[in-house]
Amino acid sequence: MSKVVAAAVMRGTQSVFKQAESILNKAIEEKSESTKVGFPETAFYFPMANALLAEEVKTLGDAKKILEHARTLLPRELPQDKVWLPYLGDVLDSGIATLLCEEIIMALRYLSGEEPQADCNGFFSDTVLRSLGLQLVDGRMPGFAAILGAAPDNKTAVEIVRQLQERSILIFAGSSSNGRSIIDQLKEENVAMGWDNYIVPYGRDTLSAIYPLNWAIRSTLTFGGLKAGQAQKCLLYCKERVFAFGLALGPLDDIKYATGAGAIAMGFPVIADTDIPEIRPTGVAGYEALVKEKDHSKIVPVGIEIRGIKIKVSKIPIPVLYGAAFEGERVRREQVYVEFGSKFSASFEFLRMKDSDKIEDDKVELIGPDIEAVEKQSKRIMPLGIVVEVAGRKMQKDFEPILERQIHRYINGAMGVMHIGQRDMNWIRISKETAAKGFKLKHLAVIIRAKILEEYGAIVDKVQTKIYTKEEDVEKFSKVANDSYNERDERLGGMTDESVEVFYSCALCQSFAPNHVCIVTPERLGLCGGYSWLDTKASFEILPSGPNQPIEKGQCLDEKSGIYKNVNEFIYQKSNKSVESVSMYSFINSPQTSCGCFECIVAIMPEANGVIVVNRDYTGMTPIGMTFTTLAGSVGGGVQTPGFLGVGKLYLISKKFISAEGGLRRVVWMPKELKEALGEKLKKRCEAEIDAGFYEKIADETQATTSEQLLEVLNKASHPALTLPPLM
Ligand code: SF4
Ligand code: ZN
Repeated sequence: MSKVVAAAVMRGTQSVFKQAESILNKAIEEKSESTKVGFPETAFYFPMANALLAEEVKTLGDAKKILEHARTLLPRELPQDKVWLPYLGDVLDSGIATLLCEEIIMALRYLSGEEPQADCNGFFSDTVLRSLGLQLVDGRMPGFAAILGAAPDNKTAVEIVRQLQERSILIFAGSSSNGRSIIDQLKEENVAMGWDNYIVPYGRDTLSAIYPLNWAIRSTLTFGGLKAGQAQKCLLYCKERVFAFGLALGPLDDIKYATGAGAIAMGFPVIADTDIPEIRPTGVAGYEALVKEKDHSKIVPVGIEIRGIKIKVSKIPIPVLYGAAFEGERVRREQVYVEFGSKFSASFEFLRMKDSDKIEDDKVELIGPDIEAVEKQSKRIMPLGIVVEVAGRKMQKDFEPILERQIHRYINGAMGVMHIGQRDMNWIRISKETAAKGFKLKHLAVIIRAKILEEYGAIVDKVQTKIYTKEEDVEKFSKVANDSYNERDERLGGMTDESVEVFYSCALCQSFAPNHVCIVTPERLGLCGGYSWLDTKASFEILPSGPNQPIEKGQCLDEKSGIYKNVNEFIYQKSNKSVESVSMYSFINSPQTSCGCFECIVAIMPEANGVIVVNRDYTGMTPIGMTFTTLAGSVGGGVQTPGFLGVGKLYLISKKFISAEGGLRRVVWMPKELKEALGEKLKKRCEAEIDAGFYEKIADETQATTSEQLLEVLNKASHPALTLPPLM
């Protein structure tokens, strides 16, 4: 390996170490060793130090221990001109030391209120990682790229991020070169940033690159089921399962080299656009670790190739970019060229199957004016009805709602097109820029067809679309659609676990949580909230050897808890023999495992003889003395944790919700926003299962955030949990 690189890394490490040492000592002098320090919303303290050293840093005194550990990793001596040393080990140790020190520095900046920097995300919370879980496992987000520095000009900066976005790669943008940061280049070009746009600005200096790195290492603890302190395993997990690479734009200084060495130690290669000495032998990373690519149009493909990221780019013949990275993008009011639906106009979308001979594939009919009609109007509003008709030998009526639900994601993928809602409650906006590029209504149909054939080609062979833009047509056909929506709801609502012979497994999350399997039943959806029984059924039809497998229920071993012989055998094999028995309806007796991307956690509260439920978005305290983040830190990684259960939101309104323990009447508390989100459906379930007044007896954070407060509220309300048989 190059002596120049090794020397730069080691100088960088020493400089970061000195910085950490001096500000930590100063902080201890000014405050005290017992002063609390930490990052927001994480259950993993200083995550890098936690994963690699099993240290739980809570105070400045604890941070000192990390610094001392980093000291032991410092290079013994800088490479001399004449002495040859095998530098690689030292370089990687230096890299790790750099990351540990950077974590200390950033935490101290949090302590003094200097973080997060303006317009930057700062520390990445555990919750973000969990909420991205599904996208990461189902391939919608195939990898990550961390950009350090600035492109030679704004145009190149935009081109690089667009290339990444089009491939749905999550981008962490930050650091600077020559006093300029890519963050500002993107800002100047009005590129929308944020998690929804797949571009996350982490900070304008190189030290803050620790944020994406200590986020990556956390996946080993949240999903991987690894224990804090299993350093080698954690680094290996990152190398094997976290598909990340770095792009260093502009000249590299010592700190960038040192941080880059840390990234390389985690298995993430770095591609630079300057004349650097490369590290090409396949050493620790198992592939090239430091590579130069001076052509900016090639730097993204080179990164993807070196890191071995598998990309599926949807080439859809529309006049704007298309990709999952544009799904979360908003079209703001001042950018709107035309909009449909919401409270502004009649609008609906509807998908149905037809006999194959009734469908002409790829046919698009526009019945009514196209979008330019708004030019002659005072308002930029039009009615819209989208009727998609599909046919295929393996298509089933039950799959209609599944395909229809994808329309939201499909349309959203087009840059400058926003889609919210579904059915006759949808809302679509097309931006001026997108309209100026030649986007027309027929392109909505083009997108829907291309994506359905790409993702559901195994069950659908033909797609035709009718688009209505005349008021009277939209109203007429929305009535037809409405009858179908209602009929569907009734049919699916009546489906029970008893009415089917097979459940389905989902092993999608095994790419991150190797021992986790969800068992999905008609009355219990996957814990990520993304897979219902019908979804898994359709997915099995599409890919019979895929992540969703049917399991014949067979012999029932325990009716109350919902334990089946075949399910147990299946889970034992697919959990790598780590789980012997799972129940469908109990959270105490052999509960299902959790991967990490659960929407909610059900947690036992013994003193209330019930459970609390907390959703991912609730950041406040719960009456059991733990936040969602803290709770989530101990539920997951594919292990069973009796008394705690990761669940999908809709499972709460299922008749089978922890029915072995008495069901809904055990719920004593949930955050207000969750209660309201479940709204009418929850009220109905309360009424059906207990009584109409029960809904009000479920307390929320406005009534109680401590155990004492909650018990008082429950007693006053005579909550039924108090009189149920004891849970433990
Ligand atoms: Fe992961 Fe379970 Fe959702 Fe499948 S159903 S994606 S395994 S959380
Ligand atoms: Zn998961």
